Amino acid sequence: MIRINDNYLKLPGSYLFATVAAKARAFRQELEEDDIISLGIGDVTQPLCPAAVEAMHNAVDELAYGETFRGYGPEQGYGFLREAIAAGDYAPRGVKLSPDEIFISDGAKSDTGNIVDILGGGRVAVTDPVYPVYVDSNAMAGRAGDYTGGRWNALTYLPCLEENGFVPQLPAEKVDVVYLCYPNNPMGTVLTKDELAVWVEYAIENDVLILFDAAYEAFITNPAVPHSIYEIDGAKKVAIEFRSYSKTAGFTGVRCGFSVIPDELAVEVAGRKVRLNELWKRRQCTKFNGASYISQRGAEAIYSEEGRRQTRSTIGYYLANAAFLKGTLDGMGLKAFGGTDAPYLWVKTPGGMPSWDFFDLLLRQAHLICTPGAGFGPSGEGFVRFTAFGRRESYVEAAARIEKLII
Ligand code: PLP
Repeated sequence: MIRINDNYLKLPGSYLFATVAAKARAFRQELEEDDIISLGIGDVTQPLCPAAVEAMHNAVDELAYGETFRGYGPEQGYGFLREAIAAGDYAPRGVKLSPDEIFISDGAKSDTGNIVDILGGGRVAVTDPVYPVYVDSNAMAGRAGDYTGGRWNALTYLPCLEENGFVPQLPAEKVDVVYLCYPNNPMGTVLTKDELAVWVEYAIENDVLILFDAAYEAFITNPAVPHSIYEIDGAKKVAIEFRSYSKTAGFTGVRCGFSVIPDELAVEVAGRKVRLNELWKRRQCTKFNGASYISQRGAEAIYSEEGRRQTRSTIGYYLANAAFLKGTLDGMGLKAFGGTDAPYLWVKTPGGMPSWDFFDLLLRQAHLICTPGAGFGPSGEGFVRFTAFGRRESYVEAAARIEKLII
């Protein structure tokens, strides 16, 4: 008898972006000319950084000859990239990491989704709104309870609202795992060092694991905002950090990212200290054969002088899109949050309109696609998300259309 993991049957049917796409598709049929602008899905539009392109060309050439060919690589990732990460991303911020604490992967989605494999359950807290992968991966593992009334009854939701400055409050009940994503998707907000330190202290005192998703770290411009949770004293004892090259360097299609699991992060089981990075290594060696040599060479090149210059310039381009759009929205009296240290704007709908109604209004009146905030969790209701990843001309045109909206 075939038995399925029936936790999958509890997942709510229609996926946010699929519904957005279906609505756009239906509306397109009504249009004579397709002039829809999508500022919805978070994929990049600027090409790969040239330093990475060159490195990947060279890597392909190496694979073309017997003397330089490489097959399976180390499951944890090549040393050259792990060393570049420790030296380039962490040492300059005063965080000392050994390359052995770094695990290269095919991106942060896999890692944030797969990390549940090494955890044994316990109560999980997520911010609300939330990047859906954290919730769904726990639901698939049977750790989210049942989905009723738009929420999972075994998860603890930490509302991020305009009233609390979109900063989640510490959980009122005992939890064991907390997912934090900063800079945040979907809200585009950040935590200052002091705000993040509150979470680290709480985790140390209450024996809580923090899963810290820093996929948008490269967009931080405010010096008061930490780039890594390990900039906070004690965080190595309680936090795993996830990073991605997707938005930093146009790697959404190439696929490469990494996770950091410090040696100090350990639990005591039957009088024995078990390091979480031993477990993750075991998991990766069994279920993962490593990211490709080509993508790892591409990622390494991002740490070169020209790689850094090129990625900074592309990130500047996206942040300028966000600033431009925010200016237009402000001018219309619409409240837009985020966008200065992250590629997302979190926009309050006018007059308390439901997210999906404002989505429909923007689509029908302005032929613009955004993402309804309600799709990211109950507290996303009344907001929509715009991404900054489009081409400049899309924002210029979007601004002209937004200014003509009849709200
Ligand atoms: N984490 C967050 C918060 C994201 O928004 C995304 C992508 O949109 C990811 C992780 C996934 O990144 P990757 O492309 O590295 O899998």
